[in-house]
Amino acid sequence: MIINDLIVWGENTLKPYTQDYKIDANNFMKELLKMDTTELFMAKDQEISKEKVAAYEKLIRRRQMGEPYQYIVGHQNFMGLDFLVQAGVLIPRSDTEVLVEKVLEKLKGQEKILDIGAGSGAIHCSLAYYGPDVTCYAVDISDTALEISKNNAEILKVDQKITYLKSDVYQALGQEKFDVIVSNPPYIKKSVLASLQREIHHEPDLALDGGLDGYDFYRKIISQGVNHIKIRGWMALEVGHDQSQNVKELFNLSGYKDIEVYKDLQHIDRVVMARYER
Ligand code: GLN
Repeated sequence: MIINDLIVWGENTLKPYTQDYKIDANNFMKELLKMDTTELFMAKDQEISKEKVAAYEKLIRRRQMGEPYQYIVGHQNFMGLDFLVQAGVLIPRSDTEVLVEKVLEKLKGQEKILDIGAGSGAIHCSLAYYGPDVTCYAVDISDTALEISKNNAEILKVDQKITYLKSDVYQALGQEKFDVIVSNPPYIKKSVLASLQREIHHEPDLALDGGLDGYDFYRKIISQGVNHIKIRGWMALEVGHDQSQNVKELFNLSGYKDIEVYKDLQHIDRVVMARYER
C-alpha cells in the first residue's frame, strides 16, 4: 500500500467524527513513521509495510471512537515543551499558556511557587523550566496526576526544583507559605459538564467539575489562600470564559488588591491575578 492512499483512507474514516480529520490523519502517520511534515511529504508515494498499515488502522479506529488525539499518541506540546499525557490527566490547553506567561512576567527570581492541581505538570514544570531560579510545590488529589507530572519533571530535568504532595487543595500543606500561587482548577458547572462534546468525557471529571455553579475551587483557593501566600505575593488563576468578573469579586471579598485580568489569544478573559497585602 502507498502511504498517501492510507492517509486518504484515514481522513475519510475520521471525517464524520472530527473537524480535524485531515490534521489528525496526517499527524498519526508522522508519529508512526517518526517523520516531520517535510519528510512525510517527500515519502508520500512510497510503499508502507503491512505491520505499519495495521498499526495506523488501530490509531485511526481509536480516534474514530472519540478518544482524544493526545491520549492516543501519548504527548502534547505546551510552552514549547513536550509533555507526556494519558487518560487520567487533563490534556494541556494552549489557553493555559497565558497563565504561565503572565506569571513568568512577574517573577524576579528565587520565588517559591505553589501549583494547585498538578495535572500533567504543564504549569509548574514550565515555570520551573523557564522561571529564574524558582522552586515549586505541586499538589494534586490524584495519584495518576502526581505520577505523570513527576515523570514529566524528570524528563524536562526540573524535578530537583519541585516538591510533590498528595493534597486536596491546601489540606496537606500545613503552615507552608508561597510567593506565588497558581492554579487551573476544575471550573465547569456540573450541569454543563454532562452536555460537553464527547471528547472531553475521556478526560477526568476530577479536573473539570467545578461544582454546582463552577466556583467551588475558586472559593476555596482564594479564601484559604490568605493563609498560604506571603505578604505582597501573587495568586494567578485560570478562569472559564464567563467567570472573570465573579472571580474578581471573590478576590475582593477576601481582601486581595491589584486585581488584573488577562485575555487569551482568542480575546477571552482567561486569567485573573491578584496580590495579597494583609
Ligand atoms: N479549559 C478546559 C475546557 O474547557 C477546562 C479546564 C478546567 O476546568 N480547568 O475543557
